[in-house]
Amino acid sequence: MILDQTEYEKCLECGHQMKVNPGYITWCEKCNWNIDGEERKPVEEPLHKGLNKKSTDRLFEEFKYSVDRRLPFSKQRIYTYLLAIIVHGSTFAILGMAIFFYSTHSSWLFILANVLVLLWITIILPYRKRLPGRAIRRDEFPELYGMVDEIGDRMNVPPVDMIILNEEYDAYILHLKRNKRAIVFGVPFLAALTMQEKIAVISQQMSHFAHPNISNSLLVERARHVLNSWYDTVDPQGSGLLYWVVFPLIILRLLLFAIISSIYALLIKSMRQEMHRLFYIADHEASETAGSEAVLSLFLKFEMEGLFFLTAEQVAEYQYNKELYDEFRNRIAAVPSQEILRLQRLQEMRYAENRSYHPPMKNRIDLIREHWAIVPAYRPDPARERRFNKEFRDLEQRSQRILLNDLRGAG
Ligand SMILES: [Zn+2]
Repeated sequence: MILDQTEYEKCLECGHQMKVNPGYITWCEKCNWNIDGEERKPVEEPLHKGLNKKSTDRLFEEFKYSVDRRLPFSKQRIYTYLLAIIVHGSTFAILGMAIFFYSTHSSWLFILANVLVLLWITIILPYRKRLPGRAIRRDEFPELYGMVDEIGDRMNVPPVDMIILNEEYDAYILHLKRNKRAIVFGVPFLAALTMQEKIAVISQQMSHFAHPNISNSLLVERARHVLNSWYDTVDPQGSGLLYWVVFPLIILRLLLFAIISSIYALLIKSMRQEMHRLFYIADHEASETAGSEAVLSLFLKFEMEGLFFLTAEQVAEYQYNKELYDEFRNRIAAVPSQEILRLQRLQEMRYAENRSYHPPMKNRIDLIREHWAIVPAYRPDPARERRFNKEFRDLEQRSQRILLNDLRGAG
């Protein structure tokens, strides 16, 4: 006979009997005490902190009624373009000032003009965007590329130029130089996913390519690069020769930093409405392609980043299990339902951050439930899935070596 060994603890806030799962946070599902491990009841954050609540809600209602896949021209776009023009304009004003100083024939102003030219060059240099991982070749990994191509094809997206892998817990797209498009996968994140969840995450990303939007119009993208350059140049934490040559005055640097930060925030804010649309559309298209259930469980898996890095550290340290990714999947399967509930609730409570494009998670989940798709439109046959999984194991092996070497090296 197996005895029920579940232990309970009394909630300090409301007296509810809380289930205790060793190794996991004990929290109260009735009043949310300790839900984030802070031994308190979370302060009720307004759902749309720092967002324009009205327009966020209006958009949500609109999508609840029907999913419109177009990105209509909006007033906000004009603000975005205006801000982008201001960014470009003020950068050129530096050059203009330098030319003016040269023309005065004053030797002091001549030095200042040189400094300004130096600053101008640094700002307009193409933003040094390093690849965030290793690019894999099409002939080496035909299954992964093939699947990305096929899903893209369903949305009329031409094949991507590059798949980049890294050891992050994430997936996103990149626009590279010369109109090249890349999709970036963190192997740990993909490893956590089932086949249909992998299809869901690929669909979401391909949907972003399928709907070109304001954030990748040339004017705006260049403006963001310029702002990033400005950031790097005036960042109070930065160092480097130019930094000391151009900004000997701390006050000036901090002032500039504040101005650049506000312009950046305004730029993001002006694009937010359109980006929210883009995310709702992407969720919906992923839902149609992979099935709604896969999208919701994908969201949940995204919350397991902490579990992954804990697993990785332990495997690196104790070496009791040689297969990091297998161990991670075992642990996902063993997560108790109480913990799943906690992650779900945290996910829905989290408000959208001010500098983020993402709509509130609660809205995204609600919209998927509203337009539920039971049958996935895309599902590889078993033979294909086997080939894919075999190829994916090779990817995992490589990634595991890199990750464990890094962790052991650091420890
Ligand atoms: Zn309670």
